[in-house]
Amino acid sequence: MKIIAALGAALTAALLAVPAAAAPGDAAEARALLMESVGYASVQGRGQTPALARFYRDWLVARGFAAADFSIEEMAGTAMLHFTWKAGKPKAPPMALTGHLDVVEAKAADWVRDPFKASAAEGYIFGRGVMDNKFDVAMMLATLARLKAAGFRPGRDVHLFLSGDEETDGITSAAQAKQAKALGIAFMLNSDGGGGALDSQGRPFAYKLQASEKSYADFTLGFTDPGGHSSTPGASNAIARAGLVAARIAGHRWPAQADEITRQSLAAAGAARTDALGEAMRRFAADPGDAAAIAVLRANPGTIGQIGTTCVPTMISGGHAPNALPQRVSLTVNCRIFPGTSIAAVQAELARIAEDPGISFATGVDWPVTPPSPLRPDVTAAVTAALAAATSAPVAATGGQSAVTKMLKPTPGMDAGATDSVFWRALGIPSYGVSGLFIRAEDAFAHGLNERVPEAAIAPALRHWEVLISRLAG
Ligand SMILES: [Zn+2]
Repeated sequence: MKIIAALGAALTAALLAVPAAAAPGDAAEARALLMESVGYASVQGRGQTPALARFYRDWLVARGFAAADFSIEEMAGTAMLHFTWKAGKPKAPPMALTGHLDVVEAKAADWVRDPFKASAAEGYIFGRGVMDNKFDVAMMLATLARLKAAGFRPGRDVHLFLSGDEETDGITSAAQAKQAKALGIAFMLNSDGGGGALDSQGRPFAYKLQASEKSYADFTLGFTDPGGHSSTPGASNAIARAGLVAARIAGHRWPAQADEITRQSLAAAGAARTDALGEAMRRFAADPGDAAAIAVLRANPGTIGQIGTTCVPTMISGGHAPNALPQRVSLTVNCRIFPGTSIAAVQAELARIAEDPGISFATGVDWPVTPPSPLRPDVTAAVTAALAAATSAPVAATGGQSAVTKMLKPTPGMDAGATDSVFWRALGIPSYGVSGLFIRAEDAFAHGLNERVPEAAIAPALRHWEVLISRLAG
């Protein structure tokens, strides 16, 4: 999933024109791989995900990797791919690269172009999954092929895991995390998280290194009453009870919480702003107990989720006739839970807030509760070097000057969830979202209509992955 922001045509056309490390031939090959991968409608229920896994395997095998080092396992109506690039003499524990094969459904009738046939127009490549996550998967594969062709030998085993149901059930995602745990994977780089942001002029201005995710839970609160004729109301009414409880939950102030990741991320976001919100971000980052800062961040929909758990009523249904007392009402409450807080603790708090002992609770979807991944200095240094490589190309639009006036540093960040990383973090494997895509907010259409990536995002992404993989696996 992951929606960050996309590369602007102006700058990115220039970036593609003058690739630094990656040669134009590599960019052309990566582009062709991306375009062809879109042709596999790897949507849940369409049965094409195994074929996409075989396509990727055959592509790498054709570039010199051993077919015996791949496994494709079909499971839960989909497939997952695992490949190991073995080190001759490992100097360090293994690392993993991850992404996903599946894409969100797309209704062809609603799209301008066929979503499952990549097309190029106006400096963009269009197609379902062309951004999420086939872009970064193609860039990783092309980088592995390029490194192999250049004679690179990994100093540690490099495992590539591509899951088959990241967008839906996460069954293959969970299975791969278990395999990774058994293999002793030291850390993983998730291509489907984090990433670069360009301003509206196409200049890179921020990069999120995703190191943490909230967990997600749905609770269904049930209210029952004996019911009866509406002309003979009693003291209790299930609809009125549900309404009161919904209002209490919506108005509840969850305690402010902070950790290393959110403090760094708010400090960086605050430093880039001059308004009251920016000041509150900086003050909270310095002191998470600052009540005035908390009040400002809570009042802003863009920041309330960064400073603690949130729960909101999202659906309600009940009653059975206009002239009958309601017997049954159900209220759905969706929670985004701060890392480290258990789902049981959130349920207990909801029950306390509700002040209605007659409610029944059922949990729907829930994701593992995961701690933030501690920032590894080797990963942070490699990402910083990758950013320098990705953003170092001259920019024709600004007279050939560098696109970056100051060194772009990765900012650790927390997402509202949920990528495959949650399954890995739940097993104690540090996981980092490090997409190579730089994109403008107005170009990001992941999961939506007319999903696209700028053609010019390809060359910088190849430089990004080449530096990341060669530094961390070397
Ligand atoms: Zn995704």
